[in-house]
Amino acid sequence: MTDIFVFDNSYVRLPDRFYARVAPTPATTPSLVRINVDLARLLGIDPVKLAAPEGVAALCGRRIPEGADPIALAYAGHQFGNFSPQLGDGRALLLGELVGTDGARRDIQLKGSGPTPFSRRGDGRAALGPVLREYLVSEAMAALGIPTTRALAAVITGDPVVRETLLPGAVLTRVASSHIRVGTFEFFGSRGDVEALRLLADHVIARHYPDAATQPSPYRALLDAVIARQAALVAQWLMVGFIHGVMNTDNMSIAGETIDYGPCAFMDAYDPAIFFSSIDQGGRYAFGNQPRIAQWNLARLAEAMLPLLADDEEAALADARAALAGFAPCFEAAYLAGLRRKLGLQSAGADDLALARDLLQAMMADGVDYTLAFRRLADAALGPADGETFRGMFVDLAVIDAWLGSWRARLLEEPMEGQARRAAMRAANPAFIPRNHAVEAALSAAVTEGDFAPFERLLAVLSRPFEDQPEHADLAAPPPDGLPPYRTFCGT
Ligand code: AMP
Ligand code: MG
Repeated sequence: MTDIFVFDNSYVRLPDRFYARVAPTPATTPSLVRINVDLARLLGIDPVKLAAPEGVAALCGRRIPEGADPIALAYAGHQFGNFSPQLGDGRALLLGELVGTDGARRDIQLKGSGPTPFSRRGDGRAALGPVLREYLVSEAMAALGIPTTRALAAVITGDPVVRETLLPGAVLTRVASSHIRVGTFEFFGSRGDVEALRLLADHVIARHYPDAATQPSPYRALLDAVIARQAALVAQWLMVGFIHGVMNTDNMSIAGETIDYGPCAFMDAYDPAIFFSSIDQGGRYAFGNQPRIAQWNLARLAEAMLPLLADDEEAALADARAALAGFAPCFEAAYLAGLRRKLGLQSAGADDLALARDLLQAMMADGVDYTLAFRRLADAALGPADGETFRGMFVDLAVIDAWLGSWRARLLEEPMEGQARRAAMRAANPAFIPRNHAVEAALSAAVTEGDFAPFERLLAVLSRPFEDQPEHADLAAPPPDGLPPYRTFCGT
């Protein structure tokens, strides 16, 4: 009889120094919060079996399913600019890999499943609130069309975790194209373990960047491709106001997926300097800094990969520099293409970036909500009378009227009629993002009152972010006035 999962593990075939074999700590009295039925099906898992006791036992460490080979992955990382040569999965285990019905290989990871050799001073646990946050936000990102890890399940363990107070413990089952990070390369790079670097790079090429294998310099092609994917990813974050919050190199997936939703947040009023993380002194990971930080992280990747690029050090450095020079054009192209979609533009005009910047500047000057403004701008595509709601969001009407004039003049250069333009803009500008205050309210109801209804409602609404859902209009609204400044926390 086959188990619920049909594992096909590849990372575990890499040498021992890539990971530590470790069994999960069994949860005492598990209770299922939810499983992700659609994702289960995509992974070739029967959702009914997954939600049954045998499945839940596998999702909380009480049963190691057939074919699973649990390992904690070794990695290093630059955290807030400082290098830690030894991090690794301190509270997560890779159960194994599955090939989905779409043919794609994905990792199945338990997060919060107990201590590992990489736990350092941590308890290896996760609290329910952060598990629900990751579930909610990662699934919202997926629905927004942004590459991301996914959430397959959340289980309450029955074992309280000690934070500032005692909190319910939980395990998130995370699904990712892989859990290989920039920090995985740094782990071997900093040890001068060139053989391991080569094995890792070959694994990553085979798994994520098969085209690189056919290039004259596969490792350089790999570096170029990672840079391009990461640049495109950060541009997509900026389109929806996402602030990752802890863009350390150990939290940057080599596959170009958004990973690690600890202190993440979404921007309400447009402000590139905004950040929310309580441990991010100085706003290193502020909204508008994210492209620069991505590039900085990729420079760490290039450094780690130097021995693979060329035997001669000067030649390797020149290669790394040339690859890194590719970041800015990739990012700028993706960013501008994204802004054009948000503005309802089909063609490429020479002044489009300036047009977008002028709007963002007006939003910033007047503290206008980023998501709502673009959503309302879609209505303005029908004509001036339909632009009043958008216009009314601004304080300085002279500025926004001038801008609307430029925008309308630019629209006239394209044949698209109003309704079609509005539809295209609504497909690029979500009505719903995971608003910080709404996420907090949903998590707080679940954690303090055991009421999961707000969490379920928010999750359902965020699964269709581009559709108006008038009965849930409250979840599209910016935070009410008078809320204290929003803060997020790391390592939770
Ligand atoms: P993060 O800030 O979640 O990206 O984690 C950074 C590092 O700390 C990683 O190596 C994690 O595995 C580890 N870590 C975070 N929280 C815990 C915990 N509660 N127990 C053990 N290790 C942890
Ligand atoms: Mg992490």
